[in-house]
Amino acid sequence: MSRKAMPAKTRDALLNEYNHKCAVCGGDHPQVHHIDEDHSNNELENLLPLCPNCHLRDQHNPTRKIDIQKLALFRKYKDPAILKPQFDPIYRKQIFLSEIEINDEPTNYIEQQANELTYFVLSLDMGEFYGKKIYQLVRPVGINSIYILDRGTLHPKISHCRPDQKYEYKNLVLKSYREYRQKLVDNKEDVQEAIIELLRYQKWTNV
Ligand SMILES: [Zn+2]
Ligand SMILES: [Zn+2]
Repeated sequence: MSRKAMPAKTRDALLNEYNHKCAVCGGDHPQVHHIDEDHSNNELENLLPLCPNCHLRDQHNPTRKIDIQKLALFRKYKDPAILKPQFDPIYRKQIFLSEIEINDEPTNYIEQQANELTYFVLSLDMGEFYGKKIYQLVRPVGINSIYILDRGTLHPKISHCRPDQKYEYKNLVLKSYREYRQKLVDNKEDVQEAIIELLRYQKWTNV
C-alpha cells in the first residue's frame, strides 16, 4: 500500500485534540483514521483517532462501519449523540441535503424531502422551536413547479398554462429550482447545526 506520509505536526495536533484517546470509545493507543478513506487527504478535519478495535475491527469493516458522512459530522460537532442509533432517523432525513446538484432537472423530490424533515423534527421534543427554524431554512423559494400563477391565481401544472405563457413559465420554474437548490446547499450546515442542537433535548428512551 502506498501512502503519502502524514506530517508529524498534523498527527500530534489530532492526538492532542482528543487527549490521545479513541474518539469513539475513549480507548487507548489510537491510530489515525482517514474519514473519507482517502489516505492522501491529511486535512485535520478528515482525521479521527480510533483505537485498534474501533478502527480496524469496525471502521475498516464494511458491515460494521459508521457511514462516512455521519463520521464527518461526528468529527465536526464531537457530540457522542451523533453515533447513537437514535440519531439515525433524523440523520437519514437530512441526507438529501448532501446530494443536491444545483442544475438537476426540476422534481418535487427535494421539496418532499424538505417537508418530511420538517414534519419529523416537529414531532420531537422541542420540535416546535427547531421545526420552525428548519422550515425557514428548507422551505421553497420562488414559484413551485407544480403551480402556475395566472391572473392572480395559482393553477396546478404546466398543462394549465396558456400556450403563450409556457416558455416563460418553464424558465421561471427552472430559475426557481436553481435558487431553491442553492438555498438548500447554502443552508445545509445551519440545518445540521440545528439538528445536533436538538439532540440535547431528546428523551432517548421515547424515540
Ligand atoms: Zn475505540
Ligand atoms: Zn482507517
